[in-house]
Amino acid sequence: MTDEAQDEEEAPLRAVPRRRAKTITVAAAALFVLLGTTFPDAAAGCFAAFVVLMLVVHWPSRGASPRRIRAAEREVVWPGRGMKAVVEAFQEPAFIVDRFMLLRYRNPASLIAFGNMALGDPVSLRFRSPELLAVVERVIEHLQPGLATLEDRRPLDRTWQVEVVPIPPYQGERPHFFLMLFRDRTAELRLERMRTDFVANASHELRTPLASLTGFIETLQGPARNDAAARDRFLDIMREQATRMSRLIDDLLSLSRIEMKRHVPISTTADLAALFRKVEAQMRPLAEQRGLTIELIVPDEPVLVIGDEDELMQVFANLVENACKYGDGGGRVEMQLARTAERGAPVINASVRDFGRGIAAEHVPRLTERFYRVDLGKDRSQRGTGLGLSIVRNILLRHRSRLLISSQVNEGSVFTARFPDPGKSTADSD
Ligand code: ADP
Repeated sequence: MTDEAQDEEEAPLRAVPRRRAKTITVAAAALFVLLGTTFPDAAAGCFAAFVVLMLVVHWPSRGASPRRIRAAEREVVWPGRGMKAVVEAFQEPAFIVDRFMLLRYRNPASLIAFGNMALGDPVSLRFRSPELLAVVERVIEHLQPGLATLEDRRPLDRTWQVEVVPIPPYQGERPHFFLMLFRDRTAELRLERMRTDFVANASHELRTPLASLTGFIETLQGPARNDAAARDRFLDIMREQATRMSRLIDDLLSLSRIEMKRHVPISTTADLAALFRKVEAQMRPLAEQRGLTIELIVPDEPVLVIGDEDELMQVFANLVENACKYGDGGGRVEMQLARTAERGAPVINASVRDFGRGIAAEHVPRLTERFYRVDLGKDRSQRGTGLGLSIVRNILLRHRSRLLISSQVNEGSVFTARFPDPGKSTADSD
């Protein structure tokens, strides 16, 4: 007996109804002889019953036709140890199936991905996808590799690319086994979708002001040609739309530059205290215009982090600009630097707080998505590009820093960039 045949899990395929049919035939024949000799008058009836029973037992059914049974018996060769070892080495789910699409072997990765599937069961029991099953059937028939896409809902929504290839046999003319190799394409497809969504969103955002500009140009060339007052009003709106378009393009370029640099390590240090003072000076006119004062709460000594000064200026200028735009009515904006600890590790919190309208909890997790804006209703004058916080998040990722947002409607918001404290950790390790 081969070591494969000893494998307990592999026994079910050997259970062919032929032996049971033999037993029934012998038992029925014995009963017929016994009844026929005991009750000679009923011998004809007994014989008829015996014939009917034999027809039922031996009639070839679709699932276990004598041809299939014979073929299955011939193929009691199970995948060899070498073949199994190769399948086990795959980090991604892999199966070995036979010509009847019965599962003959599966690797540990497939247990995690698809749960425990019994050996000997048809793969169609777990995968109902007609596309996948058709591809497996085609590969079995034509012995050419095939590819299928499988959308699986259990245990998670995932998209798999399934490669089905015949495994060349050591001897004999036809392969006994077929390899099904699953590759998880969920993340890849999500990324592709994000990319196409991004292009669609960017085009839409640019098309809106462009359509408005075209409309005004046509009006100025036509009905409003001699209306000086309308012309001035329209030109103001056109300037606003053109500014918006150029801001959008600047933000898009910024975002792509930052994404390109995202994995480039930073080798410079930046003083957040000095940087906060610069941002305050730069944003003061905007704050005053909105009736706000900016309050700086920073230590006198430098607060050093590993960072790119220009990029960090962009982060805090963006946060303070938002605080001024959406924090109106709150009277002031606070910029604060504080050294603290997170799970025992020293960190620096650099926060911008406003006391304005705040943000409802359901919007907070989505604020850093590209083009995401909380609906401001009629307040179109403050309509931004929806890219600012996405830029902030990407810059902070490169700085191994996190953006924390907390907000209360009508009370205000705090945006905190949390940096690892390089000064402290060096001192600690000394
Ligand atoms: P933009 O300001 O250009 O629209 P952002 O990415 O900077 O884009 O911000 C996304 C959205 O988050 C804004 O449209 C606004 O609705 C909301 N938001 C950002 N900062 C604040 C804040 N300080 N207070 C209230 N809402 C804010």
